[in-house]
Amino acid sequence: MGGIAEATSKLRDKRIRRRGIDWIKLTYWPLWLALIFLTVVRAGGFKQVDFLYQTWHGISVSCLGSALLALIIVAIVVALTLIVGRRAFCHSLCWISPFMIIGTWIRERLRLPGLRLRAAPEKCVSCGACTSACPMSLDVQETMVAPNKMTKRECVLCATCVDACPTEAITIHFEAARPRRISEDRRNTRLQHRADGEDSRED
Ligand code: SF4
Ligand code: SF4
Repeated sequence: MGGIAEATSKLRDKRIRRRGIDWIKLTYWPLWLALIFLTVVRAGGFKQVDFLYQTWHGISVSCLGSALLALIIVAIVVALTLIVGRRAFCHSLCWISPFMIIGTWIRERLRLPGLRLRAAPEKCVSCGACTSACPMSLDVQETMVAPNKMTKRECVLCATCVDACPTEAITIHFEAARPRRISEDRRNTRLQHRADGEDSRED
């Protein structure tokens, strides 16, 4: 679906500015999970898992009904991209996206190794190329590079911003979680409080 959305965005490459669309997929996701659960229960549980079920020549179509359903989904992806903007389906209706969001959240909480973007804000010349190029319409420069917070819920780690950046202010690495960063401001505030405490004791 991402490939179809990407190809369609060549016809109409519009950034999505309203972020409310991101919440649609999260609101109906529990219903989607409940339907899968009910189907499994009605079928009497899992008997086997066949990842290539009725796949012929690389296409999984078990009957005419499922072929029509696949075509309808493709039409929705194309229509949303043309009407709303880049990757509108990924933002609003993708049922895989919540799994990725939860996976990233768990990875960050458990501080597991993984693919991560890294920023060097001092190298940024504020050209905006990363923001313009991001297929997920994220404001990469303002909300990621400048505050040096490169983990974003909607980021799909496609590395387009890495390729777009002329100064290598954004890089991508497979790495372990870094030690929690204490921001410069907080560190200065702590040092100031400590110094103030020492001063008052001397008085
Ligand atoms: S890797 Fe960069 S370009 Fe790709 S979605 Fe994330 S922020 Fe956007
Ligand atoms: S493309 Fe690179 S230099 Fe330009 S705004 Fe983004 S991070 Fe900064």
